[in-house]
Amino acid sequence: MRGLLILSVLLVVVFGKEDFVGHQVLRISAADEAQVQKVKELEELEHLQLDFWRGPARPGSPIDIRVPFPSVQAVKIFLEAHDISYTIMIEDVQSLLDREQEQMFAFQARARSTDTFNYATYHTLDEIYDFLDLLVAENPQFVSKIEIGNTYEGRPIYVLKFSTGGSSRPAIWIDTGIHSREWITQASGVWFAKKIVQDFGQDVVLTAILNSMDIFLEIVTNPDGFYFTHSQNRLWRKTRSLMSGSACVGVDANRNWDAGFGLPGASSNPCAETYHGKSANSETEVKAIVDFVKAHGKIRAFISIHSYSQLLLYPYGYKQEAAPDQAELDQLAKSAVTALASLYGTEFKYGSIIDTIYQASGNTVDWTYSQGIKYSFTFELRDTGRYGFLLPAAQIIPTAQETWLALLTIMEHAHKNPY
Ligand SMILES: [Zn+2]
Repeated sequence: MRGLLILSVLLVVVFGKEDFVGHQVLRISAADEAQVQKVKELEELEHLQLDFWRGPARPGSPIDIRVPFPSVQAVKIFLEAHDISYTIMIEDVQSLLDREQEQMFAFQARARSTDTFNYATYHTLDEIYDFLDLLVAENPQFVSKIEIGNTYEGRPIYVLKFSTGGSSRPAIWIDTGIHSREWITQASGVWFAKKIVQDFGQDVVLTAILNSMDIFLEIVTNPDGFYFTHSQNRLWRKTRSLMSGSACVGVDANRNWDAGFGLPGASSNPCAETYHGKSANSETEVKAIVDFVKAHGKIRAFISIHSYSQLLLYPYGYKQEAAPDQAELDQLAKSAVTALASLYGTEFKYGSIIDTIYQASGNTVDWTYSQGIKYSFTFELRDTGRYGFLLPAAQIIPTAQETWLALLTIMEHAHKNPY
């Protein structure tokens, strides 16, 4: 352990990467509301530097926390003192990161076509951006790349457009990776892009959809954050914008939308992982999508993809009230998760955001729903916490495959039920 610690200190000096040696992910089972409140007290203790991966939500739903090595004993003592039960989900976060890096380096060769691209490993921002160009170059009549804006740090933000022609067609939107550390989502997005190209003209359902609708796919929705997860801190979630008056960086881009902005379910503390930002749409990565959606005017389904927890969610997140289309959305969600489970048996729960997880204000799909996009959904992909954000690369293709079945269900429904 000591040797490892010295080695990783050296690595930080050489590469400047944040290390997670000895960090553990604890799964807490709060038995009642009083225990949930106790766990929330931990969240307030900033010196512990806790990173809530999941929750806190209602009693009975698990709370996963990454605990830095220096805080591990204190947190365990706190939990035991209050009789709150927990298990260790991840013994040492760094060892999972090391495995992930080894896997990436083993498959580093640059792809020359999307046929030789390795879909079963995680990729850097440059590799994904190269992939976009390859896909467009190979399918110039069908796929195009649109730059919808620039990030805070000046990187281009790209959306792929799949279209068989026509003008001002209704469209479907899919985005992945608005939370940069949710690597399974960007990896799935890459796989979806290739799948759309491969299945058009082959798969009856997809072909029918594309004969009257366009599909927009934003694979790297938070490019600065994604770059940072590779260069500095694998577990970075937020954007990378700087705030005057705070040393903390970034905004939770899934709390920055103009729907219930700033209500409970987001933090006003710039150092919090759920910091909502100084105003709605303050984040250029959010504003770019808002402008795009408004200018387009005919987005009929909007699907924003996260990990982890295996959930399919619909509005609302910021209020308890049922969405006007709740019955239809619930039925559609049920069909989608049934399709998803048909492949590998992976079980997803579904429901409104506020009922299924917790109150989340200023989130993407509450805003898109408020804009009249009826089929607004959020996915939380694999897993349920064994690996959390560090899902092994061997699960990329199965995850993408099963999710695709759910996406196709939603897209087909939107296609068959024009409004
Ligand atoms: Zn997320």
